Amino acid sequence: MSERRFDVVVVGGGNAALCAALSAQEGGAQVLVLERAPAEEAGGNSAFTAGAIRFAYQGVAELRELMPDLTDEEVARTDFGTYTEDQFFDDMFRVTRNRTDPRLCEMLVRRSFETLSWMRGKGVRFQPIYGRQAFKVDGRFKFWGGLTVEAWGGGPGLVQALTGSCQQKGIEIRYDSRAVRLLTDGRAVGGVEVKTPHRRYQVRAPAVVVASGGFESDAEMRTRYLGPGWELAKVRGTRFNTGDGIKMALAIGASPAGNWSGCHAVGWDFNASEFGDLAVGDGFQKHSYPWGIMVNAAGRRFVDEGADFRNYTYAKYGRVILEQPGNFAWQIFDGKVLHLLRDEYRIKQATKVKADTLAELASRLEGVDAKQCLEEIAAYNAAVRQDVPFNPNLKDGRGTAGLAIPKSNWANTIADPPFEAYQVGCGITFTFGGLRIDAEGRVMDQDLRPIPGLYAAGELVGGLFYFNYPGGTGLMSGAVFGKLAGATAAQDLPQLRSNAVEESEVFAASLA
Ligand SMILES: Cc1cc2nc3c(=O)[nH]c(=O)nc-3n(C[C@H](O)[C@H](O)[C@H](O)COP(=O)(O)OP(=O)(O)OC[C@H]3O[C@@H](n4cnc5c(N)ncnc54)[C@H](O)[C@@H]3O)c2cc1C
Repeated sequence: MSERRFDVVVVGGGNAALCAALSAQEGGAQVLVLERAPAEEAGGNSAFTAGAIRFAYQGVAELRELMPDLTDEEVARTDFGTYTEDQFFDDMFRVTRNRTDPRLCEMLVRRSFETLSWMRGKGVRFQPIYGRQAFKVDGRFKFWGGLTVEAWGGGPGLVQALTGSCQQKGIEIRYDSRAVRLLTDGRAVGGVEVKTPHRRYQVRAPAVVVASGGFESDAEMRTRYLGPGWELAKVRGTRFNTGDGIKMALAIGASPAGNWSGCHAVGWDFNASEFGDLAVGDGFQKHSYPWGIMVNAAGRRFVDEGADFRNYTYAKYGRVILEQPGNFAWQIFDGKVLHLLRDEYRIKQATKVKADTLAELASRLEGVDAKQCLEEIAAYNAAVRQDVPFNPNLKDGRGTAGLAIPKSNWANTIADPPFEAYQVGCGITFTFGGLRIDAEGRVMDQDLRPIPGLYAAGELVGGLFYFNYPGGTGLMSGAVFGKLAGATAAQDLPQLRSNAVEESEVFAASLA
C-alpha cells in the first residue's frame, strides 16, 4: 500500500533530523518526519543530553547575539573568553589524532556559529553553562574547555523547541513509525518503507534524509564492530538507535566511512539500566573524576584522571573502564573537593559509598582489594605536588611525581573526611562509524559518487570522530549536517524530479 507523496522524508526524530526537516521546509519542500519512537520517548539521544553545544565564537559580543537575555551583571562577573575556529580545529584534530575528515571538520567548525543563530531563529534558546563549565574563583566565573552554552531546558528543551517549530511550519511528524527499507530503482532513492505497530506501508519521495543515529543500542552490532565485551556496556541514551539508517543505506550500496571500531563511551553508574531512562537523563554519568582518583578491582589506579579537562577525556575513558577486571571502577573523592562534584553525583540512583575513614571506605568498595587500594591511595598521596596551587579552571599542572600512572593536573591528597566513592561501568553514547557523505550532505556510493535522493546527518555520518571526541560536538554536528542535508535535498528536488525515479518501471516493481 502506498501513501501520499512528500518531497523530502526525514528518518529520525532527534536534533539532526528535526534540523534537516526545518531546513528542507525552508527550502520550499513538503516534509515528512518518521520517528521510530512513540511520542513520549521521541527525540533520540538528543533528548538525553544536557544540551551542551560546542561552537566557535570570538567573544562576548557574539554570545550576546545568541543569548540576548544575558545581563550586564552576568557579563561583568564572567570571563567567557573566546573559542576561536582555530581552537575548535585544534581540538578536533588533536583528540582524533589527525584522523577527522578535513572536509567535514571544516563544515562543522566554520558553520557552527551561524547554525546556532539559525536554530535561535527556529525558537531554540540558549544559556551559559555556569557551574559545570565554569567555576567561581575570586568572585568571577571563568569558562574552560571550549564549552560555554547549553540549550534551555537541556536536551528535552531542545527537542521540544525544534518539534514545536516543525509543527508550526506544517511539517508532519509520525511517531511509532520505523523506516525499514529505502525504496530504489537500483540507482536512485525514491522513498521509504515504514513499519508501525499496526501496519507496513510505503511513502514515496524524491529525497530521503537518514538521521536515525548510530548502532550503539544494538548489542550484536556493538560486539561485531567495537569488539568483544561491548555487549556488556550500558546504553546511555535511546534504545531506538540500532543502526537502521546505516544498514538501509549500506544495503543499497552506500559507502561506509570513519572509525567503525570506535565510539563515545563514558564512566556511567555501574547499576544503571540497560538503556537510558529519560527520567534520569544524563544523571548516571559521573564526570568529576578529574577532582579525585579511580581504582579498579585490584585496588589500582589505571588512568591519568587529570590528563586534560574532562571535555577531552571523558568520551574515551568509558572504554578504559570496560577493559578493567569486572568492567568497573570506583571514583574516590575526599572532603576537599566534594563541593566541586557535578549535580549527577547527588541523584538518588547513584551507586555510592560514604565513610569517615579511608579504611572503612576501602572495605566497602564492592569487588575491590581493600588492602591494595589503601596502599595505592597512600602512594598517590605521597606523590602529590603540594608546591603547585590547585585551580579547577585551568590545567593547573598540580600533578603527581614519580608514579607509573601519573595524574597530570588537579592532584589533591585523598586525606580529609568525609570520603565518598562512586562505582562506574561503561556507558556507550554513540558509535563513530557510519555513512560517507560529500561536502553537501549527500550519501556516497562505493564508487564515491552521490546516491541520487539520499542524504545523511548526525551520529550515522562517519568520518568526523575517531578514538575520542570533544564534549558538546554531537549536537553541533547534528545541527550543522542536518541543516546542510535538508537544504541540499530541497535544492536538488528539481533535478531529482526530472530523473522521475518514482515513475520508473524498476522502481514500481520494487514496491511490494
Ligand atoms: C546521556 C547523553 C548525554 C549527551 N550529552 C550531550 C551533550 O550535552 N552535548 C552534545 O553535543 N552531545 C551530547 N550527547 C550526544 C548527542 O546526544 C548525540 O551526538 C546527538 O544528539 C545525536 O543526534 P542525532 O539526531 O544524530 O541522533 P538522535 O538524537 O539519537 O536521533 C536519532 C533518532 O532516530 C530515530 N530512529 C532510529 N531508527 C529509526 C528508524 N528506523 N526509523 C525512524 N526513526 C528512527 C530514533 O528514535 C531517534 O529519534 C549525549 C548523548 C547521551 C546519550
